[in-house]
Parts: sequence; C-alpha cells; structure tokens
Amino acid sequence: MNKEQVSKDKVREAAEFYKDINQQKYADAREIIESLCYQFGYQTYKNGVPCLGSAGLSALEDAFVILGWENPHPVPEMACELCGKKWATCGTSAPKPKYDPKTGMTESYTKNYYRCCGDCFTKLRN
Ligand SMILES: [Zn+2]
Repeated sequence: MNKEQVSKDKVREAAEFYKDINQQKYADAREIIESLCYQFGYQTYKNGVPCLGSAGLSALEDAFVILGWENPHPVPEMACELCGKKWATCGTSAPKPKYDPKTGMTESYTKNYYRCCGDCFTKLRN
C-alpha cells in the first residue's frame, strides 16, 4: 500500500467515524464540503462532460474521497443550458423574440434567464 492510499484510507476512516457519531452533523458537513468542491474544484471535461477535478490539490483530493466522488467528478448539471457542451461560466437574460421574415417564424425562448458558456453568450448578445 503506497503513501497516497494510506492517506485516502485515513480520510475515509475519519469520515466514517464522524458519520457514526452524529449523522445530521455529518450530513451538514458533507453539504459544506460539496459546496466547497463546486466553488474551488478545477473545471475540466471527461468524455465531453463538464467535470470537477482536484488539480492535484490534497485538500480537494481528500474532499473528493469524503464525498465518494471519482476524480474528476462529472457535473453535467453545470453545462451551458444552450449548447449543453461547455461549462456554463456566465448567465444572460433571453433576448427579445426575433421575427424571421424568411420562415414567418418567431424565434422564442422558454426561459427568461440562461446559465451559459462564453460562446453562447457572445452569440446571443451579437
Ligand atoms: Zn454554450
């Protein structure tokens, strides 16, 4: 067993220990750890799906172990709501519906606000 494996086992063991002592506090702590991972995890992709990675930071690696996440951890819900491919890094209100005289159709949006990637933001705003 290498040094890294021993460390991960200790993290798992500590997490299990606290889970047994107080399940509600353990659940609260997990929620906080998950939130920290979403805020500070490295944005990457695996098989085209947005993922959070640890970027080799030991605190994040330990947090992933506690959460039982693979590294990188897929977060498809963080994808752009318009193209569905890239990380949503910003947001924008839906543009006013446009009338297309060629088709006679009015382009419409189903929501008022979208979390989107920079490319889709640029397309919508130009
Ligand atoms: Zn997009």
